[in-house]
Amino acid sequence: MKVHHTILSIIGTLTLASCGDPGKETARQSEHPDKPQVYATNYPLKWFADKMAGSAANVVYPAPPDEDPAFWKPADDVVAAFQEADLILMNGATYSKWADKVTLPSSKIVDTSAGFAPNFIVTQGEVTHSHGPGGAHSHSGTAFTTWLDLQQGIQQAAAVRDALQKLIPAQKDQITERFNEIKATLESLDQRLLAVGKRINNAPIVASHPIYQYLARRYGINLKPMLWEPEVVPDDKAMTDLQTLIATHPAKWMIWEGEPAAESVAKLKAIGIESVVFDPCGNTPDSGDFISVLTSDVENLEKAFP
Ligand SMILES: [Zn+2]
Repeated sequence: MKVHHTILSIIGTLTLASCGDPGKETARQSEHPDKPQVYATNYPLKWFADKMAGSAANVVYPAPPDEDPAFWKPADDVVAAFQEADLILMNGATYSKWADKVTLPSSKIVDTSAGFAPNFIVTQGEVTHSHGPGGAHSHSGTAFTTWLDLQQGIQQAAAVRDALQKLIPAQKDQITERFNEIKATLESLDQRLLAVGKRINNAPIVASHPIYQYLARRYGINLKPMLWEPEVVPDDKAMTDLQTLIATHPAKWMIWEGEPAAESVAKLKAIGIESVVFDPCGNTPDSGDFISVLTSDVENLEKAFP
């Protein structure tokens, strides 16, 4: 694989030198063609791989920051880059729908949630809706925000560790060390979430979107979802739907995936519901990283349920 990339790199350099267009870089051309190429299908996996591999691998997560990576469809050149990667990190649990429609080299794929597949949550009977540029989609079927059960997140990080140690055996000890740091951090957040779950004590809560199934199960949160978006102010129909839900599930809090519009917060407050943000961090955050976003998520819940 290294030889292959070195040759590509030489060809690339020659091509660039002869055509004089060094600014044009496609997804296929790597910034570090001499290093093993690791392609990740969502931000948590990219972050795990980056942290553990350090500078020993080139870790690429090519989805644009405004797309939901679960429903994102990569362009042909990006699919080609995945096909040429030395390691492809998949979330599994039906996460990357696009991967079913293309041929990826199975020997390069690591399904990071395969180890706990028997514990996947399957949901049914929910209408199709759309958010972002990806078109209509449904969340029915296997729930895929697997890492929000932080013990599952640790297992996914362990799958990344094992794959990287095979890919770059010279870095085995460093990878183990960095994995242990990630694990310790996630364990501590996991303990804090278990404590929050206990304090909530099964009180009904609503979620803006059906993405918190594993969070709810692991931390014992009695959570029912709407199909709302943080940037969309609920209209009369949406408010009626919520009233119907809270008639049997009298929630005092809504958990949002991102900072909700001020008007949404006010509309909820008017019917006795407070808002709290828990960003699943499936995509690259505007600021901070996977751990800082999850840490502020935990802090938000701790403030809401002291
Ligand atoms: Zn959705």
